[in-house]
Amino acid sequence: MNISTSQLSSLEPEQLAAWAKEAINCSKFGQIPAYIPLLARAERQGFAVQIRAIDGKFLSWGSIAQTFPLMSVVKPFVLLYLLCELGEKRVFDCVGCEPSELPFNSLIQLEIDEGKPRNPMINSGAIALASLIPGQNSVARCQNLLEWLNQQANSQLFLDELMLDSVKTNPNPNNWNLALRMVESGYIQNAEIALETYNRVCCLSGSVEDLAKLGMVLVKSGDRQIGENSRTVKALMATCGLYEASARFALRVGLPAKSGVSGAMLSVIPGQGAIGFYSPPLDKDGNSIGGLFLLEKIAHSLRLSVFD
Ligand code: GLN
Repeated sequence: MNISTSQLSSLEPEQLAAWAKEAINCSKFGQIPAYIPLLARAERQGFAVQIRAIDGKFLSWGSIAQTFPLMSVVKPFVLLYLLCELGEKRVFDCVGCEPSELPFNSLIQLEIDEGKPRNPMINSGAIALASLIPGQNSVARCQNLLEWLNQQANSQLFLDELMLDSVKTNPNPNNWNLALRMVESGYIQNAEIALETYNRVCCLSGSVEDLAKLGMVLVKSGDRQIGENSRTVKALMATCGLYEASARFALRVGLPAKSGVSGAMLSVIPGQGAIGFYSPPLDKDGNSIGGLFLLEKIAHSLRLSVFD
């Protein structure tokens, strides 16, 4: 199906297919993360994209039925949910809003910042925010977030229990150390609940269609409260969403985006639409090589930069 909104409508399916094939090719030498055993088995050539416009029309390419865990792509949505549930003060008392210059799971970054997580798009910030999600335990918290997201986005996200088991079989000492440091600095109360919740929400899974629909929640302005909080979320995606590569990406592409270690990536074109990507090989910053490549091609050819 062709999309029909302004610039997005001019993209030809053949052009998308040609760029997607180039994207697969240029991601050949990327890393597949080994620290989550089930993620390590991801198909290197697996690739899917869906471009979704504000009128609901869409254009897709690749293994669109493939589901994958959101991993860090869930972070902007944990933030959005909490901004709507608890308000800005509660959220930003607990997490900063500055870009980080060290990797997404860096304990040194947290030490430099005296135990206050730098922003919600890195692990420390998302672990701290996971500890604020309402619910008696990690199961209820994750379920609350899942139901809210599926309702807002009309998506079919689900918890991938096998992925969660895989995450648990090889607990990430970095994340545990981040959580302990934040208990020490008083930003979280209970490291176990915070981490269990964080691990669960990272295993919320779906297809590129679900991803693009999630992105549309940040684009549609139907609900005033979500609309206002979306502005904050998009600004943080633009400044922090791709970790240390965020500033470079803002110059080259100029769109809010968020990546995850599974190879999931989401970009939002304010006022126009959202694009969901899946391509597992990652660059040294932990961003999907194929996703970044394709997004850059689309953004340049359609002049989508918010700074244009
Ligand atoms: N669950 C992953 C982790 O904590 C998420 C990180 C990511 O996607 N960059 O390692």
